[in-house]
Amino acid sequence: MPSATQPPEKMMFQLSLRRRGISDQAVLHAMEAVPRDLFVEPEDRAYAWRDSALAIACGQTISQPFVVAYMTEQLQLRPGHRVLEIGTGSGYQAAILSRLCRQVISMERFKTLADRARNRLEQLRCDNVEVLLGDGFDVPAGAGQFDRIIVTAAMREIPQALLERLEPDGILIAPVGPQHSAQTLIRVHRTKDGFERKPLVDVRFVPALPGIAREL
Ligand code: SAH
Repeated sequence: MPSATQPPEKMMFQLSLRRRGISDQAVLHAMEAVPRDLFVEPEDRAYAWRDSALAIACGQTISQPFVVAYMTEQLQLRPGHRVLEIGTGSGYQAAILSRLCRQVISMERFKTLADRARNRLEQLRCDNVEVLLGDGFDVPAGAGQFDRIIVTAAMREIPQALLERLEPDGILIAPVGPQHSAQTLIRVHRTKDGFERKPLVDVRFVPALPGIAREL
């Protein structure tokens, strides 16, 4: 029976994530706890708990919940981890990450999106997330090294400089492939012998573009 605190669409949301194979309890809890309706455009609130990507400002998208849960699960986060996200967008993925690790640095090239995401994350008291206006192809040296890196915009290839930002035994997940068609989610593990790449599933993301956006 749906309870007063658990509306039916939220129960279906959890159920569909489980059905599609998400089994990490911590990830499922985070997906349950973060109110996705706060991250979509006000006119899309009614669709916030559906398993689909939605348009946000600046011509970008908030990813499909299954893909957010899947990428998060594949990161194998631990509470002590420091995580870099490239492509803050709405801030939804960053809010999920914030519940599962020590610190999140999230980079976004649109000022409007960075500002809005920062506000939402403050409202939800995700105090361990820092949103930076910047280019994920040019991560500031001062940001240091990361246990995990998640890229949420499609890259033609993963820059070696980004891989070098992984700590030993670190994991990076990124959609790789041509823009404006399907890409493959790639998982890279930094081992003592180098970088091991494993293709996961096909996905569709907006492109990663260089530089800070000139439009707001
Ligand atoms: N993770 C987001 C969805 C990302 S959409 C969410 O949970 O809502 C992809 C985002 O990547 C867009 O906002 C886009 O502006 C941003 N982006 C694209 N190229 C980038 C780059 N080089 N550096 C930083 N952000 C980038």
